[in-house]
Amino acid sequence: MYSSTVTQFEEPPRKKSPEEIAAEPIPLPPQSAEQPLIWRNVIAIAVLHTVAVYSFATRYHEAQLWTWLWSPFYGLSAGLGITAGAHRLWAHRSYSAKTPLRIFLAMLYCMGGQTCLFKWIRDHRTHHRYTETPADPHDANRGFFFSHVGWLMMRRHPAVKAHGSKVDMSDILADPVIQFADKYYTPIMLFLCFVFPTLVPVYVWGETWTVSILAVTIRYVWLLNATFLVNSFAHMWGNRPYNSHVKPTENPTVSFFTLGEGWHNYHHSFPWDYKAAELGAYGLNPTTGFIELMAWFGLAYNLKTPSKEIVKKISLTKGDGTDSFWGNHYHDTHHSSGERRSIQSR
Ligand SMILES: [Zn+2]
Ligand SMILES: [Zn+2]
Repeated sequence: MYSSTVTQFEEPPRKKSPEEIAAEPIPLPPQSAEQPLIWRNVIAIAVLHTVAVYSFATRYHEAQLWTWLWSPFYGLSAGLGITAGAHRLWAHRSYSAKTPLRIFLAMLYCMGGQTCLFKWIRDHRTHHRYTETPADPHDANRGFFFSHVGWLMMRRHPAVKAHGSKVDMSDILADPVIQFADKYYTPIMLFLCFVFPTLVPVYVWGETWTVSILAVTIRYVWLLNATFLVNSFAHMWGNRPYNSHVKPTENPTVSFFTLGEGWHNYHHSFPWDYKAAELGAYGLNPTTGFIELMAWFGLAYNLKTPSKEIVKKISLTKGDGTDSFWGNHYHDTHHSSGERRSIQSR
């Protein structure tokens, strides 16, 4: 499918592409450092979560059917801005997108209200480059809470600043869509993330102000936590078919909540693959379906993916011997332990 736009790497490339070089993790020794709490963030995060959970339990049943449909639709659209936009397009350059698609993805991204694109992308590139070292902004070695949300409640480890500031961001600084979105990020984000989704239910189908505001708060907190799951759950629980020496795992539950970003052991092994998973059935990876649809429309191109042979070879040499839940059939039952051993000894 879309063979004209998909680039398959048949061999491990002798000369590594900039994406692959940027994706190679760099080990760093542990370093302890003072990281004082940022009380403003601690209180804001605590209040937001309390309001979201309490109002979902006590008030959300009052919402009209259209509000029940609108809120998840809005959240999923914003999620796509993160997965297909900030993550797979910009942070990893796993495909290229024409300007209309980049504008559309930047708009969807701002609907999520996380942080400006430059910061999100730099943090994510730093995470891949220094995975589970002191320079990883949400180092999973520091436990579930820290990697999920705790990292946002305290000053950054000095290593994150020192190494993160060296990550190459020249391509991002040169993208006029990102330049515009980041220059006007605060008003665009406030309007798209909070104001617009509150006004629509009130003025289009007569939702009450209170329920509409609470629905926006719930959707916002929901999307934040879906994003956090990749940094916490998908670095802790699941199997490791592609590289058993790193913590990221294959986690179908995380994939369900994140439009396909939970195939995280694969993603850390091949971060430049636009599918962010080995195979591309769309049920637990709708982001891949979206990118391929955009390729079909001619808006996405240069979709990068490794050949089956490379994936098989790497999973047989480095993986934990399990198969991805995803239904990967190249290295399941018919690959005997003999074949595994012979590949390992090469
Ligand atoms: Zn990760
Ligand atoms: Zn990534």
